Amino acid sequence: MAFTHDTEVALQYAANLVNTAPTASRPEALDSVEALLAQMDGWGWTGALPRTEGELESVRRVRSRLRAYWDADVDEAVTITNELLRDGHASPRLVNHEPLGWHLHSTPDDAPLAVRMAVDTAMALIDVIRAGELERLRVCAAGDCDDVFVDLSRNRSRKFCDGTCGNNANVAAYRARKAGAAG
Ligand SMILES: [Zn+2]
Ligand SMILES: [Zn+2]
Repeated sequence: MAFTHDTEVALQYAANLVNTAPTASRPEALDSVEALLAQMDGWGWTGALPRTEGELESVRRVRSRLRAYWDADVDEAVTITNELLRDGHASPRLVNHEPLGWHLHSTPDDAPLAVRMAVDTAMALIDVIRAGELERLRVCAAGDCDDVFVDLSRNRSRKFCDGTCGNNANVAAYRARKAGAAG
């Protein structure tokens, strides 16, 4: 394991959230509060769930702030992290609940969802930056895909996002090998 479990969950959630943003080939995935609730499902979110368009809009704003981590060098990542912690009035405390066991909650449970998302990600980036592992935050290597991911593999060898790009690349490599063998 590269990081503690709660840090890995926070990083992977942040990548998943970033990838809901609209792209040239894909519409906005968080186009309603219901869509946001569906996206949050299964990630172990506690505290108040979003209900309003205003909360949804705040999450979209935080999403674009978090996207900057994937283009950032260490100095920039430090700046983003310290801003998010300051703006969110981060105040970490240890809590113990399933399925995470002992982990950090760094905002009050009634803090706005977008603030909780921002601070959770910033807390995870503290671990990443201190460990010198920022390069694990990657953008998909497929030419037509800008999705982000967190490479938690032991040898830091992942090139493609969690979507279909890895499979497509495998198929292309296989075809290229076959074509080479036939020729
Ligand atoms: Zn928790
Ligand atoms: Zn991809």
